[in-house]
Amino acid sequence: MHTKTSCLLPGYCFLIATLLLLTLFKPVFASNENKITIAFRFDDYSATSNTLLEKNLINAFDKNGLSITIGVIPNIMTGDYHQSDGDSYETLPENKKDILRNAYFKGVIEVALHGYTHQRNKVSQTMSEFAGLEYEKQYDLLKTGQTMLEEIIHAPVTTFIPPWNSYDNNTLKALDALDFKTISADFNGTYNTTTPLQFLPFTCDLAGFKSTLEHAEKRKGNSPLIVVMIHQYDFLEISSERGSYYFQEFENLLHDLALRNDLVLTDLAGVENYYQNIYAPKYNQLVTTKKLFLKAFPVQLVAPPNLYMSDTFLLEQKLFVYLYLYLIPLILAFAFYFILQRIWVRRNMQIPFTGIITLLLFTSIFIFTRLNPGGYKITLILQILSGFFLALTILRYRRNKTVSY
Ligand SMILES: [Zn+2]
Repeated sequence: MHTKTSCLLPGYCFLIATLLLLTLFKPVFASNENKITIAFRFDDYSATSNTLLEKNLINAFDKNGLSITIGVIPNIMTGDYHQSDGDSYETLPENKKDILRNAYFKGVIEVALHGYTHQRNKVSQTMSEFAGLEYEKQYDLLKTGQTMLEEIIHAPVTTFIPPWNSYDNNTLKALDALDFKTISADFNGTYNTTTPLQFLPFTCDLAGFKSTLEHAEKRKGNSPLIVVMIHQYDFLEISSERGSYYFQEFENLLHDLALRNDLVLTDLAGVENYYQNIYAPKYNQLVTTKKLFLKAFPVQLVAPPNLYMSDTFLLEQKLFVYLYLYLIPLILAFAFYFILQRIWVRRNMQIPFTGIITLLLFTSIFIFTRLNPGGYKITLILQILSGFFLALTILRYRRNKTVSY
């Protein structure tokens, strides 16, 4: 029993020291790349969307020598596509096909598939055209949509933007089978680490772009990547309620961005030319780092912006959280130790050794694994309990040592 306990404290200290050292060595790992990559994505181009706005948007990118991914709905449901029971649809008219074709050949846009009808399906609990459907059905929808778009631009369409950013594992399987290269949804999507797809979830909408860029500027050395999701309702001319920019303001913004040499501006397909590692393992890293943060800190305190960051940065972030998770129990353990020592000496209390160790292990496991059921408050309670049980363990160990000598 003695040997087991005596391993505990040095082990703990060793771990803390290692984590501290790794944090100190940050400059060694830091990347030299000081650029921010920004990819633009515009959703909901269809027979019923605002053609004038789309022409102006494409024109604005063209004028500044930039490109944007246009998410096209090839056969939109007319009427309210949030309803699953409608049955009238409309394919792109010739003028809208021409706009796409011309802009594509100029290199101003990437054409992406944004659903087939964008209509909510009958099976999914949440808004989704794809999630919940059988594989064959999803494959057919994707293939039909992809073929329709490929016939317009006479080139492969390899990026998929699921309506409402919602999809499931069958969607990924069907995308793989249809030679799609990229999926752009959000940070709540499913993934498996074997798919060859690139994951480029949107990191902000147009309203949140400026603050996201500010976050990215503070972390320039860590290769931030921003994916901006734009809808027609982001423009005040289209929607005075949801809009955040007048078109002219947006055009000015784009112009300013284009002049900066610390930014790389591209469409979704272009990201791979500037940014390594945008596959499922990276997406997994981003999602797990975010979850870890939310386990330790209140969301308003941390608010980790959904940015793509370098592997080094994500590792640092994780180490930082782990350090916090370990340090708090350790500091508390010392405090508890001195308090408990006094009570112990006065009353000569008996403490069941196996019980303490079990509780210590139990609380530690809950802190450091996914078993933790809630946010930072539960974590804090577990940290306090761990500190308490650790103090008891040290106390018990030291007393036994005194007794045996
Ligand atoms: Zn949409």
